[in-house]
Amino acid sequence: MPLGIFQVFDGQYKPILVTSGACELFELGHEELHQYLGNKSYLKMHPDDAGKLMEASKGFTVNDENLCVCRMLHDGVYHPILFYERPHILPDGTTLYAVFYFDLDRIGRDGGQWFGDYVGREKAKTFLDEVTGLPNLHYFQTFAPGTLKEYLGNGQIPKVVLFDIRGMHFYNDSFGYDRGDGLLKKTGEIIRNVFAQNFCVRYMEDHFVVITAREDITDCVNQVRTLLQDYAGGANVDINAGIYAYSDPHVSGDAAVDMARRAADYIQDKPDVYLQKYDGEVAESYQRKNYILSSYRDAIRNGWIKVYYQPLVNSLSGQVAHCEALSRWDDPEYGFMNPGEFIGILEESHKLWELDLYVLEVVCRALKKRSDEGKLYPHLSVNISRHDFMVPDLHERINTILDSCGVGHDEIAIEITESALAEHEEEILRHIQRFHRDGYQVWLDDFGSGYSSFSALQNFDFDLLKVDMQFLLHQNSRTPDILKNIIDLTKKLGIKSVTEGVETKQQRDFLRQIGCGMLQGYYYSKPIPGDIFFEELEKSGLQIESAEDRRFYEKLQEINFLNIDHPLSDGSFKPFGGEKSLSIVIEEEGRIRVIYTDQAGYKWMEKIDSPTLESVSRVAEHNDMPIHKAMRTCFGRLQRPGEVVSCDVSDPSFRGEMEVALINQSGQRRGFLVSCMGSGRKAG
Ligand code: C2E
Ligand code: MG
Ligand code: MG
Repeated sequence: MPLGIFQVFDGQYKPILVTSGACELFELGHEELHQYLGNKSYLKMHPDDAGKLMEASKGFTVNDENLCVCRMLHDGVYHPILFYERPHILPDGTTLYAVFYFDLDRIGRDGGQWFGDYVGREKAKTFLDEVTGLPNLHYFQTFAPGTLKEYLGNGQIPKVVLFDIRGMHFYNDSFGYDRGDGLLKKTGEIIRNVFAQNFCVRYMEDHFVVITAREDITDCVNQVRTLLQDYAGGANVDINAGIYAYSDPHVSGDAAVDMARRAADYIQDKPDVYLQKYDGEVAESYQRKNYILSSYRDAIRNGWIKVYYQPLVNSLSGQVAHCEALSRWDDPEYGFMNPGEFIGILEESHKLWELDLYVLEVVCRALKKRSDEGKLYPHLSVNISRHDFMVPDLHERINTILDSCGVGHDEIAIEITESALAEHEEEILRHIQRFHRDGYQVWLDDFGSGYSSFSALQNFDFDLLKVDMQFLLHQNSRTPDILKNIIDLTKKLGIKSVTEGVETKQQRDFLRQIGCGMLQGYYYSKPIPGDIFFEELEKSGLQIESAEDRRFYEKLQEINFLNIDHPLSDGSFKPFGGEKSLSIVIEEEGRIRVIYTDQAGYKWMEKIDSPTLESVSRVAEHNDMPIHKAMRTCFGRLQRPGEVVSCDVSDPSFRGEMEVALINQSGQRRGFLVSCMGSGRKAG
């Protein structure tokens, strides 16, 4: 500990003891330091600060305590040294004056804590941050300008480095504020150690600032990152470092930090990048961000924000069952912008709700128009952000929009993205319940994109799960099993399903085969501008599903083809053991359509030379083969949905048993689940 003890002899303030720590700081031997301090020499002080110290030392024997920060030469550079002086009266009446010297560029957490204990928290707070013990914002504002100019004076270009901890909020939420403080302390300590001898402060919150002219900044940032991640263990914590090269003496210290922060913000959403220099690109992106925030209301008012629709196709009927509303911003100055460019910015600034309500209004007006024209229209979904929940009367606003347009609440689904569920669980739960009470469907968007997937299913009551597009976009050998298991799970939980990002026929066939309810993706259609949506849909040959069809197929969608022993969740239908197949067959006014069959079914269809669903449907309708007769007889015996019948079949193509359930009927149309078991032996 750098410390000197002084006593007054004949009115003269003389050192009687100096510690080795003081000798090291002043870079003098014990004798020399005694002399240096005894002669009141200011040779080591920065010329601009010597006067300040001289002035302060006049109060040393008068005041109860004295505190002064001056720059002093150490190791060839000036360091801010905090001089703290306090008198101590001994039992015999002698007064000794203790002076501590804190090198603020080297003060670590322990030094900072000790300093706080000794001089009192309130005083320490003037320059030191309580949590980390590092110098604080006030310290930065007082000394950074001098430090920066000094570097320039020495012909060096200093770098202002801003560190921002990624995942700090989540860490606090997951582990509590005490451990959050622990993380901040550790970060301060790591930065302090890695940038030894440099100007380091905790600037504010989870932001730390370093001023340095080191050439190896990248290595240093890497070290900070590695050490921090080691400390955080498995917790998802990282850093963002923004760097601003300080070359213009007219730029203030805070402005320099601001620039470094813009660089750090620029890489916020790029998981693989953690270091960014402030450059033209950062400046341009910052400008654009400002533009978005200042003109989104104009964009809404002037119609620059457009609503696009993307169809969701029912995998069994092949019709458009639903559409998702997605925004685009067509700006007169910046041109066309995808949601990726503006949604996040508006969301972060808590402005997205205005846009979301606007989209909802456009959607409702479009539905109303279609309905007034007596034309078919699909159900629609809108995306909302978790920040929308901060709007106190969000639900009333949403209800008012629908009610004033005369749109039924059951015609709109609310999509909430999985990542929104990571925090504030109870609050989100309440909002989901409220949406349900008001008659809306609530969908879980982007399932599988984050870390909370399964707890989202456990804790929240969603009507539908949208499998994230990443599974198909980055498909590998594991994808089929993952998708099968997700779909199996949705069926078991009684939740409907959609897979996003379907781009190929192969993907479509596979998803249909495993029983995913709806499919969304470029294979069917990209998002289409709202004003030409219905025309374009017509051109593409996609048909909109009627309300009756929707109800009919919804019931069939509940069948779980992946759980061959219990395809119906109530357990009423128990297919036979051994080799078996499952199919869905629709009978309508005497006509028969096989709309689904599993792999075993396809194998059998190949055997009878009817390899497609269309050809096997024709055969089933007209053929007198015993198997088809048996099926039609079973159909005739079934009266009400939920009933199950079975019979033996002996056919050249098939020997075994058949079991048939009536799943649903509407008017002349009936939907059956048919299972055939070829081994002739009944299970169990
Ligand atoms: P999302 O809700 O998951 O929307 C699906 C995104 O997947 C859309 O991107 C859509 O264009 C894209 N997509 C659909 N099919 C395919 C495909 O086959 N291949 C590929 N590569 N992409 C496909 P988009 O329109 O860029 O929207 C991105 C995200 O922005 C949306 O993700 C949604 O979370 C958000 N978003 C868009 N509009 C709004 C809005 O009005 N309000 C809110 N809160 N969020 C919105
Ligand atoms: Mg969505
Ligand atoms: Mg999505």
